[in-house]
Amino acid sequence: MSQRPGPDVLDNTPWWLPEVTTSGGGDGLVVVRCSAYETANGQGPRHLEGGFYGLESLGPHVWICTARSDGRFRMSCRCGHRGQPQDLCNGHVAMIRKRASGVCPPCVHPPAERELQEKMERIRKRPELYTGPPDEIDRARRKAVSELWDIQHAVDELVARGIVHRCQLELREVS
Ligand SMILES: [Zn+2]
Ligand SMILES: [Zn+2]
Ligand SMILES: [Zn+2]
Repeated sequence: MSQRPGPDVLDNTPWWLPEVTTSGGGDGLVVVRCSAYETANGQGPRHLEGGFYGLESLGPHVWICTARSDGRFRMSCRCGHRGQPQDLCNGHVAMIRKRASGVCPPCVHPPAERELQEKMERIRKRPELYTGPPDEIDRARRKAVSELWDIQHAVDELVARGIVHRCQLELREVS
């Protein structure tokens, strides 16, 4: 792996794979580069999390790939969720597929589930759970616990009805 200019930039071009084109396209053609590590709006690489969400933290290194793109791909699940299309070299297509692309975020966290999670979060943050006379804190906590259980049962029901489910993301070529 060769160092690119700048201490933080690491080249992850899969140049050792025979089907990856690392030289320019030539003859004045605009060469589309692999965007395996392209970031969107300062967020993480778009292939992570299937291009649905960015990553909060990328660590200290910026990875780049300088290979020529071999096609446009995007993550999708069998429920029809789709990530952002991106240009990828064959090497990164193979790498992403090999890593097993993970679970579709909108399928594990559909709006109904997120709403319930937020509701739980709001209950957990109630100030009366933490400050006040001890017996009132006690009462507030008992009330919160019973409300949290109700919401938990609603989440369980979403799982039982298949609204919350684990869908495999697959990297497919965009036609
Ligand atoms: Zn690449
Ligand atoms: Zn999905
Ligand atoms: Zn699904």
